[in-house]
Amino acid sequence: MKMKEEQFRLIQAQLKKLMSQDGFYRKKFEGINPDSIQSQEDFEQLPFTWKGDLRDAYPLGLQAVPNEQIVRIHSSSGTTGTPVIIPYTRKDVSDWALMFKRCYEMAGVTAADRIQITPGYGLWTAGIGFQAGAELLGAMAIPMGPGNTDKQLRMMMDLKTTVLTATSSYALLLAEEIARRGIIDQIHLTKGIIGSERWGEKMRRRIAAELGVQLYDIYGLTEVYGPGIGMSCEYECGMHYWDDYIYCEIIDPKTGKLVPDGQIGELVITTLRKEGAPLIRYRTHDLTRFLPGDCKCGSPYPRIDTLIGRTDDMTKVKGVNIFPSQIDELLRDIPGASSEYQVMIDHLNGKDLMTLFVEAEPGVDRQALGATIGMTFKMKIGISISVKPVAIGELPRSEKKSTRIFDNRY
Ligand code: ZN
Repeated sequence: MKMKEEQFRLIQAQLKKLMSQDGFYRKKFEGINPDSIQSQEDFEQLPFTWKGDLRDAYPLGLQAVPNEQIVRIHSSSGTTGTPVIIPYTRKDVSDWALMFKRCYEMAGVTAADRIQITPGYGLWTAGIGFQAGAELLGAMAIPMGPGNTDKQLRMMMDLKTTVLTATSSYALLLAEEIARRGIIDQIHLTKGIIGSERWGEKMRRRIAAELGVQLYDIYGLTEVYGPGIGMSCEYECGMHYWDDYIYCEIIDPKTGKLVPDGQIGELVITTLRKEGAPLIRYRTHDLTRFLPGDCKCGSPYPRIDTLIGRTDDMTKVKGVNIFPSQIDELLRDIPGASSEYQVMIDHLNGKDLMTLFVEAEPGVDRQALGATIGMTFKMKIGISISVKPVAIGELPRSEKKSTRIFDNRY
């Protein structure tokens, strides 16, 4: 992707500012003269920023403005080790709300809508981002946070919620619960906005069908504001991202070199206007690609594809790289298999052993289904696995991002 002149100007100004003051980037970019960055090619020589760098800066080493200008912090939900703390200025907070408002508008949400917010509040950026955007738009926010399904459904019915915001697994849980209780005629949802974890087409179709809504993907990460920096439109062809706030690159995660436009790689983000904790060439670990050409919706904002996976989701079994998205795709095309699955990987008697647990639709011959999936897996992905079909609802649903692959080898 060609860097726009305005983007380059913002990056150059940001680099100059960061290098002129003590702090994270002056240390990280020691020896680099910001005046020597005169082109996109020069910029592409700058080193990447890694999540580990951010962890090392704990607690407030990333802060790039005086204390008085910081109005809030958020923290990324790291599963292990030291958290990452991101400080926000007043302008960061309002820029984020503005981007979030754009996301709602991209989904056709208006001030007349009632938005039920089920992602968590607190240190995590999710809930409060959805809320600030909704309020800026003028819609009615219903700040539920996660959990308490009874209360969620009651509010959804009594307040006539029109927009549900959730993780895909929680949306699925609510959809199943609505079907089980037979209350779909009391639900007024028209749209679902689903957080940016990678989720399969089959799950998407199920949630959309059971809730009777159109679904939208929203993208973001705590290190770069939070959710709200990108959003799918009604044509469901990737996600538009706000290129006046972020500059995106796609690189080969192994070599760090840019991949040709259209090829899958790791998304790298540079913030253009962030004050509290600007980031230069931040490696997101999200796998996606640029989608070329104009979108049918007419939006001038460029697009990245729906997330394909995480660079660290990639698992090697019997010498073959496996992404969860490949399994989603494979199951999508097999009648009788649901979208819910879990993978266990073990090492027994000197050999990798992969077991795929998958929920079978009611009435399906599970033995035959297992055989079909096993055969297809061998054909498409190239390794033999053991398949264990189970009943719908037997695999755990979570309100957080779903973990599907459990590697017990190490
Ligand atoms: Zn579009």
